[in-house]
Amino acid sequence: MKHELPKLPYAMNAVSQAISERTIEFHYGKHHQAYVNNLNSLIPGTPFENATLEQIILEAEGPIFNNGAQVWNHTFYFETFSPLPKQQPEGEFMWLLVETFGSFDEFKSKFSTAAATLFGSGWAWLVVDTNGKLAITQESNAGNPLRKGQKPLLTCDVWEHAYYLDYQNRRPEYIQAFWSIIDWSIIEKRFLAAK
Ligand code: MN
Repeated sequence: MKHELPKLPYAMNAVSQAISERTIEFHYGKHHQAYVNNLNSLIPGTPFENATLEQIILEAEGPIFNNGAQVWNHTFYFETFSPLPKQQPEGEFMWLLVETFGSFDEFKSKFSTAAATLFGSGWAWLVVDTNGKLAITQESNAGNPLRKGQKPLLTCDVWEHAYYLDYQNRRPEYIQAFWSIIDWSIIEKRFLAAK
């Protein structure tokens, strides 16, 4: 099975209030594409030749895990952006965010701290944990919450390639801008599917 780079659901310059066209060109067009290409070159003749990305995340190790998880993580990340995003969630999901974290702003603040303090390369996540509760987690490198039985709802890529062209070493400024392009209607749908 050949893995493919999913098409972006918006133009490369559509979210430039937070992430420039040049960053999208490199991050999506070069980095994400390279993970797809690497995975396709690694799996022939292995037990993962016809595996889904989810199977690879759960079972693979080493380079096949790293590249497979990075394909999944980047697709999940790029899918959440919109030039005209729904700016905050509502309904049961909003109620649960407020109950768990104190308020929507408190949630964003705690998630931002998790993203800003992650040492080195990795991903900050909002997940439904194995007890059915919302939780903020950090994963290094290609880490993915599915591996721990958690259900991912939102992620922020804090590898330097995600922000260095636009923000250089100012990771907190990138995280602040990240919120302005998150389409909460997409996160709500993921929450409903995870329940
Ligand atoms: Mn990345």
